[in-house]
Amino acid sequence: RRAFYIGRFQPFHLGHHKVISEISKNVDELVIGIGSAQDSHTPENPFTAGERIMMISRGLKDLALQYYVIPISDVYRNAIWVSHVKSMTPPFSSVYSNNPLVSRLFNEAGYAVLYSPMYNRTEYSGTEIRRRMLSGEEWKHLVPEEVVDVIDEIKGIERLKEVAMKGD
Ligand code: ATP
Ligand code: MG
Repeated sequence: RRAFYIGRFQPFHLGHHKVISEISKNVDELVIGIGSAQDSHTPENPFTAGERIMMISRGLKDLALQYYVIPISDVYRNAIWVSHVKSMTPPFSSVYSNNPLVSRLFNEAGYAVLYSPMYNRTEYSGTEIRRRMLSGEEWKHLVPEEVVDVIDEIKGIERLKEVAMKGD
């Protein structure tokens, strides 16, 4: 069984890790899509697809799971989005998501969509983690330790602060 799971992973955090760890109990392989792959250097999408690949593959080292990380750029056409995803990914038979639009689009395309529950959503949230990074609050305990190393290596906090700065 090969399944599909997609996120923007800005950054990859412990909520994502927990979801994937649960999914890994039910599948042989997982295709992980990186959404909005073309975006980087913005307040909502500070990290590049390549940087997110590093975060995910290093952050999943502790799992015995065969997975593929595939960048998926936006097509801005929901009606063809599933075909777009399929054109870039290894074949899969089921989808895990809690996003209503993702679920609807895959359902309409004939896929079985399984609901993935939320874990500690108030803190395990990309929006909350980026907010903390900007305000200088603690965030490192909300991501796998390997992700802290990646963000450090790419000077991610400095970048986020700079791109979030309002022009004069
Ligand atoms: P952002 O706030 O930037 O949207 P996010 O935390 O929602 O970040 P995404 O990359 O949008 O992260 O998430 C990818 C998928 O993982 C989405 O379907 C999202 O609902 C799910 N997800 C995010 N956080 C959690 C969590 N804490 N527990 C379970 N699933 C989560
Ligand atoms: Mg989200």
